Amino acid sequence: MKPNIAIDGPAGAGKSTIAKKLAEKLGYLYIDTGAMYRALTYCALKKGVNINDQEKLTDLAKRVDIFLSANEDGQLKVYCDGEDVTPHLRDPKVSQCVSRVAEVPGVRHRMVELQRKMASAGGVIMDGRDIGTYVLPEAQLKFFITADLGERARRRLKDLEKQGYEGDLEEVKKEIAMRDDKDSTRAFAPLKKAEDAVLIDTTDLTVDQVLQLIFKVIRERVKNDV
Ligand code: C5P
Repeated sequence: MKPNIAIDGPAGAGKSTIAKKLAEKLGYLYIDTGAMYRALTYCALKKGVNINDQEKLTDLAKRVDIFLSANEDGQLKVYCDGEDVTPHLRDPKVSQCVSRVAEVPGVRHRMVELQRKMASAGGVIMDGRDIGTYVLPEAQLKFFITADLGERARRRLKDLEKQGYEGDLEEVKKEIAMRDDKDSTRAFAPLKKAEDAVLIDTTDLTVDQVLQLIFKVIRERVKNDV
């Protein structure tokens, strides 16, 4: 069985850029777990579910069908009960509310169940906050990717502008700092580096340099071909 690769870290650190490229090069399946929490948040907002009502959110998480697929260009699409919600995942309202939805234990239980199922055959690159510590603690390769808050905010703003959103650097900085705080202080499966994860600070590194570092670790740690 091919190993699974866990990539965790705070918002805007470049996890998904790295994970996508890695998946492409290795022929692995990329699973963006943040997109799953975002899809559920979008769905809750659309249905008018009170974001502070943990019971209703748990109930929604159990009923809703969240499905990830990649199109021919390798672009990830996320479906919620059959609706393609990909264009809405970065809506400012979703970004503001997602950490509140993600702290609900019942929501996490359901998402983790789906994530473990997707990784059960191996050959998966999964990025998120709790992948190395909680979702796939047995993953053979774990990375914790981070960068300065200012650099993360600049990258996130660039991404948002590419997708047609308008943004303000200070606002983006505030939003990701708030999410990081909420994600790392929640009681259940908080954002944390797994003890056996390799820490990579990407502040002054290009995407290619980060990939080179990761491939070096893969070569050292995995004896068989990945
Ligand atoms: O990765 P992204 O920034 O899209 O994640 C959005 C939010 O989803 C995070 O801020 C966090 O609240 C939640 N999340 C989580 N656990 C994961 C992935 C994301 O709690 N494994």
